[in-house]
This record gives sequence, C-alpha cells and structure tokens, in this order.
Amino acid sequence: MKTKTILISGASVAGPALAFWLSRYGFKPTIVERSPAIRQGGYAIDFRGVAMEVLEKMDIVKEIKKHETRAGKITIVDKHNRKLASMPDGFTSGELEILRGDLANVFYEATKENTEYIFDNSISSMQQTSNGVEVAFSNGESRKFDLVIGADGLHSNVSALAFGDEQKFHHHLGIYFAVFTTSNFMDLKDMAGHYYGTLGKRTGIFSVRKDTKAQASFYFASPKFDYSYRDINAQKQIIREKFAGEQWQIPQMLQHMEEATDFYFDSVSQVRMDRWSNDRIALLGDAGYCASPMSGMGTSMAVTGAYILAGELKEADGDYSIAFARYEEKMRPFVTAAQKMAEGAEWFVPTTRFKLWMSRQIWKILPHTPWKNMMIEMPMKVATTIKVKDYGLEQKPEMVYNLG
Ligand SMILES: Cc1cc2nc3c(=O)[nH]c(=O)nc-3n(C[C@H](O)[C@H](O)[C@H](O)COP(=O)(O)OP(=O)(O)OC[C@H]3O[C@@H](n4cnc5c(N)ncnc54)[C@H](O)[C@@H]3O)c2cc1C
Repeated sequence: MKTKTILISGASVAGPALAFWLSRYGFKPTIVERSPAIRQGGYAIDFRGVAMEVLEKMDIVKEIKKHETRAGKITIVDKHNRKLASMPDGFTSGELEILRGDLANVFYEATKENTEYIFDNSISSMQQTSNGVEVAFSNGESRKFDLVIGADGLHSNVSALAFGDEQKFHHHLGIYFAVFTTSNFMDLKDMAGHYYGTLGKRTGIFSVRKDTKAQASFYFASPKFDYSYRDINAQKQIIREKFAGEQWQIPQMLQHMEEATDFYFDSVSQVRMDRWSNDRIALLGDAGYCASPMSGMGTSMAVTGAYILAGELKEADGDYSIAFARYEEKMRPFVTAAQKMAEGAEWFVPTTRFKLWMSRQIWKILPHTPWKNMMIEMPMKVATTIKVKDYGLEQKPEMVYNLG
C-alpha cells in the first residue's frame, strides 16, 4: 500500500479543518503546532454562505452553536462615552458567530481521535525528493511525509521555507491591531460593543461570554515596521507607546492588557501569491491567501479551502499535482473577491481630520440608509462567490492513494 501521510503545519482553523476531511478520506494527517496547546483568543469570527455549507457537511454546526456569540448593539462613542452613532444587534454577526479560540477548540476536539497532533514543535527544514518530503523538526527529529501543507497563518513558516521571504507576498493595508480578553470592567450588557476613534487610532470593547468577559481591541494606522512575531511583551509595548495619553477607557484597557494571557497582535495585511503550491508542498488559509481581518472572511476561506483541498486530493486519487491545481482554480475567485472587499481599510482608522469627521457622519447615517443593507449583503455576495461540490462523506478504508 502506498503511503498517504500528510503533515500540516498549524493547529488553528485551517489545519484542523483539513485534517478533519483528510482522515475521513483515508489519509493520515499529522499536525505540528508551534504553541504548547491550541492557541486561545481572537475576536468573534462569523460564517456566511459557502462556509456554512461546509460546516453543515462537517456536521459540526450544532457543536459550534453551543459556543455561539451574537454581537449586540455597537455604539460609537466620544471621549466622554457619549453616543455618536449606533448599529443594531447582530449587524456584524453573519449567519453564525463564535470566538476564534472556541472554534479552534471545537475543531481540535473533532479531529484529535484521527489526527496525530505534535505541539510545541515546528518544521525547521524540508527537502523534497521524488517520493516525499524529508522534514526536520526544531526538536531535532526527522520524518518523511508524502505531502506538507502550510496552514500556519500570516507569517507562515512553510511558506518561508518553500516560497521564500514573506515580504514578497505581504501587502500591508496600513493598520496594526491587537486583541485580548479582559474582565467586563465597563459592565456592558447584552453583548454590546463600544468603539472610540481618534486620528489614526481606534479602540473597541465588546462584551462576550454572556457579559462575564469583554474583548478589547486596539487599531492604529502605521506604515510597515519590523517587530518580533513571537515576543508578546514587545508587542504589548508597541500598544502601550501608541496609546499612551489617550482618553476614554484607554488607560483602563492598557492596564487590563498587562494581565491578558491571550493577547494577539499583527498587521492588517494580505498575502497575495501567484500560486499556492510548490511540488509536494501547498498553502492553506491565511498562509496562502490571508485577506486581513478587514475582510471578515479569513475563517470562512480557511474552512472552505480545507474542504476543497482534501476533496480534490480524494478525487484525484491522491495525485497532488492535479489536486493542487484544481484546489487553486476553485478557491481563487473566492480569495480574489474577499481580498478586494478588504481594500480601503483606511475608513476604519481614518488618518486625516476630514476623513475622521466623514467616518463619524457615515456611522451616524448608515443605519438609516440603504447602505446598511449593502454592508450586510456585500459580505454575503463574497461568501457565495463559489459553490462547493459534494465529495462524498464515506470513509473508504480500502482506498489506496497514488501519492508516490
Ligand atoms: C491567537 C490568534 C488570534 C487571532 N485573532 C484574530 C482576530 O482577532 N481577528 C482576525 O481577523 N483574525 C485573527 N486571527 C487570525 C484568524 O484565525 C485567521 O485569519 C483565520 O481564522 C484563518 O486561520 P488559519 O488557520 O489560516 O491561520 P491562523 O489562525 O493564523 O493560525 C495559524 C496557526 O499556525 C501556528 N503556527 C505559526 N507558526 C508556526 C510554526 N512555525 N509551526 C507550527 N505552527 C505554527 C499558529 O500558532 C496558529 O495556531 C487570529 C489567529 C490566532 C492564532
């Protein structure tokens, strides 16, 4: 029997979603994750359109619903916490909303039986040969796999090893952001959220977990700069410096940030690549086609891409060159539409007084204009850009894939 081992780097959303399908189709997925456990944290993410269809095929919607969130009223406030504008309940919630960390936990639970998970480890080098990929790990071990998939996010290690420096593919959209969980110190009710903006900066706080916790976020406009992706203290220092001296609830938020254990910081960037595979190595999710948090589509693309990639490997009887080409051909229109929608992120963090004033006026009139529907319909249109076929659910244990 030919081998059918597939190493996936990254245990967040894309990696486990891929492993879910691969194991059902008789492949043997192994996931290597750099963190010692599934990483918690992150904002509420929402699913719409084609991704909902994929979750239904996974028969996982019921489980996700146990952790479902639904953003309450969003209020735009001034420095005295006075209302400037507001958006109705569920305005940003899509068809199904869940905290990113909770989703990662659900996917982990759904896959751990049939997937080998290796935590606290990372790929240090890969050598492609005629019949597999020789992989060396940072703990000194080496193993051979038939294929390697990079599902390791915006700063993908697999992408750097197989395609070169990320700078070639990253398109910074001019904003950085941080998000963390804190106590609901503002006593927000009914999952309400507040946003406060000044020139080139925006902060938000949203009640989560039935108002027992809150999620704080900081955004600031800045040209690209270098920082350590691994050093969370250094990342917190960036936020401290940027938001020092600001008003509203910002001093309290900065204090709460010190204790945050799920602090997440990154640039608002897109990954734009001409191709997502290099022989036996392919990219999935943010690693290959991050559209940025401004798209609201990162998780939907990760889940849909995982379904298509696994399905095409099954359909092509494991012939990875055919499968990778079909995966790319099918996913590309969705990725292009999602990336296009996220362009012009500047409206969210305006950098001139005029744009700041304009954005406040737009927030004020938005709920009373037809644009309100457009804000809901546009993501739905993008989320239904592609259709997914049924690759069949049944596991075929006798299936022999020709990966050799
Ligand atoms: C902790 C966290 C918080 C997030 N918060 C937000 C948010 O608030 N808003 C938003 O829009 N998006 C957020 N994201 C990104 C969001 O999850 C993705 O856009 C989307 O869900 C697609 O997921 P992904 O699996 O492709 O990538 P990601 O979710 O980025 O996952 C990548 C995974 O790969 C792991 N990894 C990285 N390097 C290596 C390595 N060398 N070896 C092995 N594993 C590695 C990471 O630890 C992570 O688990 C967050 C991601 C993480 C990890």
